[in-house]
Amino acid sequence: MISPELISERIAHFRSIIPKGVELVAVSKFQPVEAIQAAYDAGQRLFGESRVQEFLEKKAVLPADIRWHFIGHLQTNKVKAIIGATALIESIDSVRLLELINRESEKAGIVTDVLMQVHVAMEETKFGFLPEELLDFFRTKGFGSFGKIRIRGLMGMASNTEDNDRIKEDFSSIASLFSDVRSMVPTPDYFDILSMGMSGDWPLAVDEGATIVRIGSAIFGSRN
Ligand SMILES: *Cc1c(COP(=O)(O)O)cnc(C)c1O
Repeated sequence: MISPELISERIAHFRSIIPKGVELVAVSKFQPVEAIQAAYDAGQRLFGESRVQEFLEKKAVLPADIRWHFIGHLQTNKVKAIIGATALIESIDSVRLLELINRESEKAGIVTDVLMQVHVAMEETKFGFLPEELLDFFRTKGFGSFGKIRIRGLMGMASNTEDNDRIKEDFSSIASLFSDVRSMVPTPDYFDILSMGMSGDWPLAVDEGATIVRIGSAIFGSRN
């Protein structure tokens, strides 16, 4: 782990350069609780985790006013464990997952906020809906199908490449899908979150309209 002082400096740095209206998710996956505590002490309250077990263990020992975003692939058998623990699940990559979250939210008597994950990057391994699949989902299922879920927007990643033009193109595709879907939503004020951009490419994502950036290694250093 890098020093708490450096984490603190980096949090201050990002808070000063990320434009108003864009939220910073400090991606703390694989980082120890001490690192999260250092960022918390520097004023950061929003963190992102990608594994259910690790997330719940950290949440149990860290301050209660932290808001947690789940950003990793969520296995269907882990849904029950995570319901009620997140401010936002950013990584919905199947309709099945929505069905399960809806059912468990109903049982828990809560409404769960989520983002739909879009896949536009050139890598084949990444999870998420293709743009056409997503449009199809909204055309057929619509927003009313899951009463205990609020679909708040989209999350996406750009291709893992040095080619800035390609990265811009990916973010631009996600942003234009976002506005297409938004025009289909009965209550557009609920559909207002566009999460894109990581340590290496977040300024390009902000240029294309991101409202959330998810930054890990540029704050906490490399992951073990
Ligand atoms: C790990 C991760 C990030 C952060 O990546 P960095 O390159 O470390 O900033 C952002 N989004 C998702 C979905 C991730 O899994």
